[in-house]
Amino acid sequence: MNGTGEFPHSFWRESLALPQFPALNEDIETEVAVIGAGIAGLSTALLLAEAGKQVVVLEADRIGSGTTGYTTAKISSQHGMVYDRLIRTIGEEHARLYYEANEEALDFIRRRVKDEEIDCDFERQDAYLYVESSKATMKELQKEKNAYERLGINGGDATAEVQGRLPYPIEGALVIRNQAQFHPVKFLVHLAKRVESLGGRIYEQARADRIGPGPRPRIHLTNGRSVRAGQVVVATHYPFNDLKGMYFSKLEVHRSYIVAGEVGGNFPNGMFISADQPSRSLRHATLPGGEQVGLFGGENHLTGHETKTAKRYGALFDFASRHFGVGGLTHFWSSQDMITLDHVPYIGRMGKDPDVFVATGFAKWGMTNGVAAGLLLRDVLLGRKNRFEALFDPARSKMKVEDAKQFIKTNADTAIELVKGKLRTADKEKSELRPDEGGLVHHDGKRAGGYRDQSGVLHVVDTTCTHMGCSLNWNDGERSWDCPCHGSRFSYDGEVLEGPATKPLERLE
Ligand SMILES: Cc1cc2nc3c(=O)[nH]c(=O)nc-3n(C[C@H](O)[C@H](O)[C@H](O)COP(=O)(O)OP(=O)(O)OC[C@H]3O[C@@H](n4cnc5c(N)ncnc54)[C@H](O)[C@@H]3O)c2cc1C
Repeated sequence: MNGTGEFPHSFWRESLALPQFPALNEDIETEVAVIGAGIAGLSTALLLAEAGKQVVVLEADRIGSGTTGYTTAKISSQHGMVYDRLIRTIGEEHARLYYEANEEALDFIRRRVKDEEIDCDFERQDAYLYVESSKATMKELQKEKNAYERLGINGGDATAEVQGRLPYPIEGALVIRNQAQFHPVKFLVHLAKRVESLGGRIYEQARADRIGPGPRPRIHLTNGRSVRAGQVVVATHYPFNDLKGMYFSKLEVHRSYIVAGEVGGNFPNGMFISADQPSRSLRHATLPGGEQVGLFGGENHLTGHETKTAKRYGALFDFASRHFGVGGLTHFWSSQDMITLDHVPYIGRMGKDPDVFVATGFAKWGMTNGVAAGLLLRDVLLGRKNRFEALFDPARSKMKVEDAKQFIKTNADTAIELVKGKLRTADKEKSELRPDEGGLVHHDGKRAGGYRDQSGVLHVVDTTCTHMGCSLNWNDGERSWDCPCHGSRFSYDGEVLEGPATKPLERLE
């Protein structure tokens, strides 16, 4: 955490040795190219390879280096207070389909883990949504319970169960039975190895920069190489080619935080999420040495809208130590996910080009939604019928009043950030930055982004986002430059950490 000099590090990415895949150093052709090796991309690649397609996966960094490597990894259809909302916005039939798509994805993971003996710490768990105290939230919980009954969700009231388990008082709770948790990166490694064993090719350090027109579009990489494919799946989390279909105007990017600490075997059975604010998401996991750790998540905010993010870890640590006796953290990390206008992912044909497809907008529930994307895209690309196609269709066009309100809010926020960013002035001189401090500084009479690393070296970059020109804000927890408009993130020395941006920042010193 800030103050300790430590950088965030994810439990999932540190608890195993990741296999490495080659870089792409030539121009190639394939039937299907999947861009992005997170849970959505690798599920899609595997299912298509199993269906006999020739598949190439292009990953900008390493497999699992996106949000799938920085998640909480509950595999659940309980997505907060979602079902009452969905019944009101997309109707009962589609709300039920949403539940069923997620249950099918969970079932897919469960069967694969069993049949292929995947070593990924898969554990069956019930999922609990609880309310601590607010009267308003209790009313919402009652509505959510009614929604469970209408949709035939396998669960219901679990107030007494949760009251006996959590170490603080709660007023009400709902359960969905027979859900699960796992180690997401171990699962990804298995998917990647299986893709390869079926003849698929995976390339790392292969960042896609743009996709040319079809038929057989050519994907241009930032290293100058290209891949020509009959069909292209964009599973890069935030679509890097977001001008197609105006995705930049339909996605909101939210960041949240996770801390992990030893709980001495005291963690209650189950996975928990609070409906109150600030929300808390809880589960346990096991360290390679066998010790049990609790994972405590929450502290959501819009990406790039906060500079002092280190304090978010502090708030979670405080919660974990107060209620679960956590004495110190083994790991802490943060990541982000996208929310669509109606909270239902966009999975399907991306825009007008018939051969380019997308999977995004999993609203912090990508373990199931990402696999659901793979299952649906396999069918769409193979020209098979799938009952979830209309639900997830990115072109579902009849915008509801709620969607329109969200559309206006998202785009007004972006416009405000664009203007606010241009008016922001430098906070200090470069020489005033202490080791491990960053912020806006004066540089050659202009404003720039500065960070002095722990060994005293100064890094200065132009803080204009290379995606659409918004001004970036400093993130002191991650030591990164984050875009408040569309969520692109850059390291302190300007490298792209997360898209949609594909090009690094200009280094000034
Ligand atoms: C804090 C937090 C907790 C969460 N907890 C849960 C949970 O408990 N359960 C749950 O179901 N979901 C959870 N989620 C959501 C879930 O983690 C995500 O929805 C999911 O991991 C997204 O998967 P993905 O494959 O779409 O993206 P990613 O995992 O981000 O994969 C995308 C990949 O594309 C690559 N890429 C990006 N741009 C390019 C490019 N131009 N060219 C090539 N490659 C590129 C990236 O490097 C990355 O590896 C959580 C999310 C957050 C933020």
